[in-house]
Parts: sequence; C-alpha cells; structure tokens
Amino acid sequence: MKFQAIKGVRDILPPDSALWNRVEQTAREIFGTFGFAEVRLPIFEQVELFARSIGEDTDVVSKEMYSFEDHDLLEFEQVRSALMMTSLAADDLLGFQAYERNVLTFVAKLSESFKRGEVPRTPENEKIIRRIPEIFEQMNRTRRTHIESQFSFYEEAFAGCLTGVKTALQSYRFGDRLGLRPEATASVVRAYIEHGMQTLPGNVKLYYMGPMFRRERPQKGRYRQFYQIGAEVLGTSDAPGIDAEVIEMLMTLFERLKLKGAILNINSIGDKNCRPAYVEKLRAELQKVREQLGADSQRRIETNPLRVLDSKLEHEQAIVAKLPRIGENLCDECRAHYAEVKRQLDLRGIQYQENWRLVRGLDYYMRTTFEITAPGLGSQNAVCGGGRYDGLVELLGGPAATKGIGFAIGTDRLILSLQEAGEGATQTGLDVYLAWFGAAAQTAAIGLAKRLRGAGFVVELPAVEMKFGKSLGLADRLKARHAVIIGDDELAAGVVTVKRLADGSQQKLGEPQLFEYLRAGF
Ligand code: ATP
Ligand code: MG
Repeated sequence: MKFQAIKGVRDILPPDSALWNRVEQTAREIFGTFGFAEVRLPIFEQVELFARSIGEDTDVVSKEMYSFEDHDLLEFEQVRSALMMTSLAADDLLGFQAYERNVLTFVAKLSESFKRGEVPRTPENEKIIRRIPEIFEQMNRTRRTHIESQFSFYEEAFAGCLTGVKTALQSYRFGDRLGLRPEATASVVRAYIEHGMQTLPGNVKLYYMGPMFRRERPQKGRYRQFYQIGAEVLGTSDAPGIDAEVIEMLMTLFERLKLKGAILNINSIGDKNCRPAYVEKLRAELQKVREQLGADSQRRIETNPLRVLDSKLEHEQAIVAKLPRIGENLCDECRAHYAEVKRQLDLRGIQYQENWRLVRGLDYYMRTTFEITAPGLGSQNAVCGGGRYDGLVELLGGPAATKGIGFAIGTDRLILSLQEAGEGATQTGLDVYLAWFGAAAQTAAIGLAKRLRGAGFVVELPAVEMKFGKSLGLADRLKARHAVIIGDDELAAGVVTVKRLADGSQQKLGEPQLFEYLRAGF
C-alpha cells in the first residue's frame, strides 16, 4: 500500500520551509517590537467553544469542523452499534422481549457510568437514560391494549418504538465532543478567561501561529489544514487607536517581508445597538429580490443576511449594489468610532480603501472589520482578516467590560503571494563540502568540521569514505561553495586543499588561513 497525504493537506518541504521560517521569524520580531508576546494554544477544544463564539449557523462550525467524541468506552460503543443494527419483525414477540432486556441492561450500565462521572454528566445524557425505559413501557402498554384487535396499529407503534430507542441510543454522548480548531481567537479568549488575564496591567497583547482545520473544498490557496499567524488585544479599552495600531503592526510586517500590492480594506459593521435594525432592513430588501438570488443567498436571507453582501456571484452584483448600506445605518457611537479609526490610520500614514460590503464570516465581529488582499492568488486573494469582537469575552463567560480586537493572517496565502512575486526562499547554501580520504584524514576532518560549524559555516561531512571523483561530484551536485580536501599529502604537510567550485580554482591553506579565506567569501 502506498500512503499519501490526505486530500487538502500538504507537506511543506525545503527550500519552501526556509521561507516559512523567515516569515514566522519576521512576525515574531515585528510583533515583539509592538509589545506582543506569544501564546501557544492547543489545537483541539470543546466543539461548544467554537459553536458559541464563531456561531452555530456559520459554515465554519456547521459544515467544516473536524470533530470527534473523546472517550475510551470502546465496549459501550460496540454494544451500542449492535443494538443500533438490530432489526425486528413486529410479530416477533420473543425477539422483541430479548431486545428490550438487552437495551435496558445497557441503559442500567450507562446510568451507573453516568453516576460515576465516566461519561459527561449532561442534562441530555440524563434525559436519555430516563427516556428509553419510558418508550418501552409505552410500547408494552400499546401491545397489551391493541395486539389482538388492531394489528396494523401495533405494527406502527412497534416501528415507532424501535426508531425512538435507536435515536436515543445514538444521541447518547460517551465523551466530550472535541473539534480541531478552525481558528484561534476562541482559544485565545478561552485562555484569557481561564487564566484570569484581566488582572494583568494594561492591555493583554498576544500572538500565535500554527495550523487550523476546515473541511473546505481544496483549491489554490484553500486547504483543509492551513496556517495562521494571528494577534489579539484584550482589555477594557476600545480606543480606535488600538484598532489602528494593530493594523499598523500588520502593515509593518508586510512591508518588512516585501509583500507588494497589498490592499487594506476596512469597514464598520456596527454593534448590538445598530446592527440588528440594519440586518432587519437588509432582510426586508432581500425578500423583495429573493427570486433573483442564488440558492446560497436565498438561504442566507434567513440565517445571516450580512453574508449576502459578500457574494462573489456575477449575477448578484447589481442587486447587492442597490442594497442598504451599513455605513448609513450606524448609531452615533459606532459612526464616531469608525471616523476616529480612519483618523488614527491617517496619523500613521496607512492607506486604506473603505469597502461597505466587507463583512466577516464569523459571528463575533462588530464595529471595525478589515481585510488585506494581495496579488497572485486568484480568487482566494485575502491574506488577512480581522476586526473587533467586544462582546466575545463576556459571551464566553469572562468579565463583561472586556473588549477585543485581532486579526489572522493566512500564512499559506502570504507565502504563495511572496513566491509569485519572486520573493522566494533565500538559498540556505552549503559553505563547505569536507572530502576526506583514509582513516587518519577522517579523524582530522571530524575535528575540522566541528570547528567550522562552531564558526557558523554550513558543512557537509561524508559519513563513509568515497572515491575522489564520486566525492567531488557529490560536492558539485549539492551546490557546495567550496570543497575542502584532506588526504595523506595534506595531513603530512599540515594543510588542506580548498577548491572553489564555481571556477575550480584551488590552493593549499593552513587552518587559520582557511577560516580567513572562507570568511572573505561569505
Ligand atoms: P475566505 O473568505 O478566503 O474563505 P475567511 O473569511 O474564511 O477567508 P478568516 O476566517 O477570516 O478567513 O481567516 C483569516 C485568513 O485565513 C483568511 O484571510 C485567509 O488568508 C486564511 N484562510 C482562511 N481559510 C483558509 C483555508 N481554507 N486555506 C488557506 N487559508 C485560509
Ligand atoms: Mg472561508
């Protein structure tokens, strides 16, 4: 059997990995100068955390999450599957009675396990334990009353009972529902609350980097395991200067990485005072043009009308252009906040485009939202998304006054864009290929390799002896800058032969001269 990486995930190999390291290292440096510190987070959390923060109705949570039940009750799982697969005929009374016994024995075991706290003690689980015996009781009552007189009625009740029992068994949870994280803001906020970070002085400024998981349709710039570099500011202030500084930090990073053609789009999507009224207004207008919209947008009229503004469908563009705009429906506070964000960006000399259609796919955003696009990415051209999420800390059970703002860079896309623009990997480069011939030369070569590496040179030392031609051929193919050769002659004379592979020029040098020579060519 030949194994392959799973659809939508990929390996990042050298020399690309060098560019990844450079991007991540640069982010650490720049973010550090803005007073941000790294937080390392788990890659899985309770599904409930994501559902609550990102939103139950978002694609990310409802369709794209990788989730599983975390437990070690394998035996329970097996008994449940067996009970789930049992089929019974309505006239098979003995079979039915045996099934009832088996299910009730199983439920008794579940109940004990529930009491011992081995399975999650949720109200749902408790309800199921109570419900199953009730279904059987009801079933038996029906049987006693109807079995002779109305067989067809009995048949129906029988089927209903079986389905009821199986559904209940199926929804019993043996363990916590965990999910691979589709993004990290929820985890940052969870950690902030869990560790009581609101008591820390000033704003809490954190950054993270790592893989995220979404079961999307894979294409260029869209993967099922992708990477994000993100940062968050949490604290009691929602001053627009914070928004602007977070964006300044981002733009500084992109500039340092020489990302060309990045465009910053900004918008304000209001808050809980003004957005609900706008959403209703939008919904009402969308109802009027319902028939002209595609299936996705039609569905979103009910679930999330703001997302219709995000439509990329050609035929919907003219319709969207005529919809009411959030900018004209902001409350005074949101309008003032947005105006000040723009002034603060101007103070920092940051150019932006206002984009009234910019809404984000996650429920927790409010007021300032922004997105940065970059060239060379086709339709997946957003390299970074972010915004304010002032209510999120409270929503997840933290202190009500806490405000938040952050962003997430799509590292894969950032790197694709850099590569398209020719800002590819810097050659790591092998400085020295150390060819040795004979046992005594190997001893000398091991020592020399150690001293060269200690001085920072990249050295390749063959592990076994090779023929001269083969060894120097390998040095060529590895694109070494120099071959340093040690054989009997060199040992006798206390020198090495150094050959510059670009032009073949060679000379014999003592060790101090060798170091000098290599440093000069650095
Ligand atoms: P998009 O509109 O492109 O789907 P998004 O709004 O879902 O992006 P966010 O959840 O805001 O994205 O995540 C921030 C950034 O993470 C995006 O701008 C993008 O660069 C990157 N990103 C999101 N999903 C993926 C993915 N499946 N593969 C690669 N990068 C992604
Ligand atoms: Mg998306």
